[in-house]
Amino acid sequence: MKRVYNFSAGPSMLPLPVLEKAQKELVNYADSGMSVMELSHRSGLFTDIITGAEQLLRDLMNIPDNYKVLFVQGGASQQFAMVPLNLLTNSKKADYVNTGSWSKKAIKEAKKYGDVRVIASSEDENFSYIPEIDSSMIDPEADYVHITTNNTIEGTAFRNIPDTGGVPLVADMSSNILSEEIDVSKFGLIYAGAQKNIGPAGLTVVIIREDLIGGAPESCPTMLDYKTHSESGSLYNTPPTYGIYIAKLVFEWLTELGGLKEMEKINRKKAELLYDFLEQSNMFRSPVKKDSRSIMNIPFVSPSAELDAAFVKEAKAAGLETLKGHRSVGGMRASIYNAMPTEGVEALIQFMKEFEEKHAQ
Ligand SMILES: *Cc1c(COP(=O)(O)O)cnc(C)c1O
Repeated sequence: MKRVYNFSAGPSMLPLPVLEKAQKELVNYADSGMSVMELSHRSGLFTDIITGAEQLLRDLMNIPDNYKVLFVQGGASQQFAMVPLNLLTNSKKADYVNTGSWSKKAIKEAKKYGDVRVIASSEDENFSYIPEIDSSMIDPEADYVHITTNNTIEGTAFRNIPDTGGVPLVADMSSNILSEEIDVSKFGLIYAGAQKNIGPAGLTVVIIREDLIGGAPESCPTMLDYKTHSESGSLYNTPPTYGIYIAKLVFEWLTELGGLKEMEKINRKKAELLYDFLEQSNMFRSPVKKDSRSIMNIPFVSPSAELDAAFVKEAKAAGLETLKGHRSVGGMRASIYNAMPTEGVEALIQFMKEFEEKHAQ
């Protein structure tokens, strides 16, 4: 069987044991004579899947009891609207940090609902760093502060979670959830599209502190109200059942691996290998400031667009897929999420070495 190392930013690699288990269970899940895709979302078997998935996630992330876990649809992009629809409802003021393309989209959407202030931005330097945030920058009356913890396109990540005092912190964690240990209690709300570190596209995970549920106005569409999903255990309507099942398998895989502490160690090691190589390379370099570098998405550039194009093409032929950088940044980008094995990163580095020798002037 031919499997490539897929460096896609999303949808991205899934752990092979997860795919194999899903394959084994595909046509006859738990002796039901059906696939999970064919099971009623109200059946006992599916109830076990969704409650099991939630419990595994709670244990992995050490989610406190006063937080709800919601499985919804619409992607992280729908959260750009759901967050202000539900939370921008008291002072109608929110503070956003602009660290890249996804932050910008979140800001644009929130502006439809209230008074949005950008309290810090790294746009002045092409989003190549994470700006300093201190509590004096935050409006104490704001309904919430929004950050993007890992910037998938630009390859930056918050090293320290800002202290927002009494103002709830909302985080788009789409591209780094489950990659390292975090203290959930520092956040009011965390959301993530599944297709990077959780499972297939179509599922979105929301972790929300209970006191932030129930503030949406009457006019809020039922499906966009966190209360709807919280009160129904994410079963108000048919949830993305197969996505939740695969997420559960991913959570089991992570648990068996040793949880987030172990996953973080592996992820730091993988990123260090690649950054160390970039540091000494005569051809490739990272465009991101050292103290702001992501361990999930690692952009790098060569001296010319021609070399970039040759690199992406030759890498693909060598079984290293989807290394082209985002159209807004150019160059290359290696997304090395949880499911990317260390061997994949080593293979990439070996290939970069050979490419560098071959194309040296
Ligand atoms: C991928 C991504 C999104 C968009 O997710 P969708 O599920 O496609 O809407 C938003 N924010 C971040 C940080 C992402 O990486």
